[in-house]
Amino acid sequence: PEEQYEPDPTKKTLVILGTGWGSVSLLKKLDTENYNVVVVSPRNYFLFTPLLPSCTTGLIEHRSIMEPIRNILRQKKATVKFYEAEATKIDYEKRVVLISDDSEIKGDISHTEVPFDMLVIGVGAENATFGIQGVREHSCFLKEVTDAQNIRKRIMDCVETAMFKDQTPDEVKRLLHMVVVGGGPTGVEFAGELQDFFNDDLKKWIPEIQDNFHVTLVEALPNVLPMFSKQLIDYTESTFKEEEITIRTKTMVKKVTDKYIEAEVTNPDGSKSLETIPYGLLVWATGNAVRPVVRDLMSQLPAQANSRRGLAVNEYLVVNGTENIWAVGDCAITNYAPTAQVAGQEGAFLARLFNTMAKTDTIEKELQTLSNEQSLAKTDEDRNRVFDEIRERQKQLRRTKQIGPFQYSHQGSLAYIGKERAVADISWLSGNIASGGTLTYLFWRSAYLSMCFSSRNRVLVAVDWIKARLFGRDVSRE
Ligand code: FAD
Ligand code: NAD
Repeated sequence: PEEQYEPDPTKKTLVILGTGWGSVSLLKKLDTENYNVVVVSPRNYFLFTPLLPSCTTGLIEHRSIMEPIRNILRQKKATVKFYEAEATKIDYEKRVVLISDDSEIKGDISHTEVPFDMLVIGVGAENATFGIQGVREHSCFLKEVTDAQNIRKRIMDCVETAMFKDQTPDEVKRLLHMVVVGGGPTGVEFAGELQDFFNDDLKKWIPEIQDNFHVTLVEALPNVLPMFSKQLIDYTESTFKEEEITIRTKTMVKKVTDKYIEAEVTNPDGSKSLETIPYGLLVWATGNAVRPVVRDLMSQLPAQANSRRGLAVNEYLVVNGTENIWAVGDCAITNYAPTAQVAGQEGAFLARLFNTMAKTDTIEKELQTLSNEQSLAKTDEDRNRVFDEIRERQKQLRRTKQIGPFQYSHQGSLAYIGKERAVADISWLSGNIASGGTLTYLFWRSAYLSMCFSSRNRVLVAVDWIKARLFGRDVSRE
């Protein structure tokens, strides 16, 4: 209850924005009794994004990869306050965050502010559209649970509409053309999942769509999955060929309408041509863009004048131009790719840093008390005892302060490519292992099961996999 939460005036207020990979890994490891911790996020759950592509076809139910934030917070030693709200502005000068309740149900108050002594920004990124006309209106993204639900509905809507009585052949072809834009891991994984859905279930249940259902992956660059090794790119491309997923590389989408996309194709001779590609379902997965609240903060800080892709941070993840704001995950610009792995390690690093800072503060206060005691000591014996204690505390302080800068340890990249195959670039001891195939897929599954957030999630995901194997995916459109 509200009355039980009284911020302790002797402690600093630490505000954490977001409940994604960065913020939640910080929360999990943070000794919350050292600070008045306040979490603000429009999402009252953590989302295990690596399995989100599987939710688009109903292989996994979305609730299986969600973990309520209240469940995480109630396990903390000290009360952590959670507000389901969006941070709309960070006022650096005033040290406050403006928050707004964007949920459907609103009370008398839906805008207010939260003061902070320390702030961690872990708000992630939004979908990049590069300002291309029609993208927001006509395509589906794949970032949030609602996106996956939307795609799941639309796949079946396209199929049922294509099966409508007297539908024209051209329209059937268009409706059953599933186009994915962006050949990064999101696009590749989704294309693989969708083709699996067709092969495992759809074509058995609705054989009439067999000749026309088609998945196309469109990529502007000369190849897909640029972060993987050449060998694994080739493996992915040949698996897609077997699965009959078309990859259109060197094809840059320039315009989107409700029924087709327009793309600039670079031909083998280097010439360029414009092509119109009709679609039924369009999934847009072209990477990340900066959120408005982050862009606004960047505009308040002269030190961020040259930042484009997000908040520039120092090696301790402190936002450049501030001394009490840190950034983690996709909204921070470091030397690493914007992945869950990086965000998780950054969050854990900040937890260690804050736990250490709290310890340092305590020791410094104790040192202050001891030095007062020393000056008041009456006998040599007392003076010596206090002196020894001071030496001991100083040693402790030096040890605690020895926390080094953030260092990322890459555990490897892993992506599902359909047909029960996955690709993995794993750093193993000193070398790199590049592997693709069914064994890698089994590894992929067990890796994700063991990484899944709670044992509850682990059980739910395993049950979903078994259910789909036994009964197929659920194709009813809600
Ligand atoms: P997020 O996890 O996106 O969390 C951001 C949080 O901030 C959310 O809780 C959001 O609700 C909240 N928020 C948003 N706006 C505001 C606001 N204004 N105020 C307060 N809170 C706000 N990475 C991997 O390493 N491996 C994978 O297999 C993998 N698979 C992926 C699959 C998909 C489909 C996607 C989309 C991404 C995948 N990623 C993967 C990337 C990974 O999910 C991101 O890098 C990671 O989520 C970044 O963590 P984050 O904490 O920065 O942001
Ligand atoms: P991405 O940035 O990795 O890839 C986007 C792709 O879209 C690029 O290859 C780009 O060339 C292409 N593109 C951009 N504009 C285009 C246009 N107009 N027409 C055609 N193609 C266009 O994006 P993502 O796949 O969403 O991934 C985002 C981040 O999340 C990455 O860091 C990725 O590593 C991470 N992620 C990882 C995994 C995994 O490890 N399995 C899965 C999903 C996402």
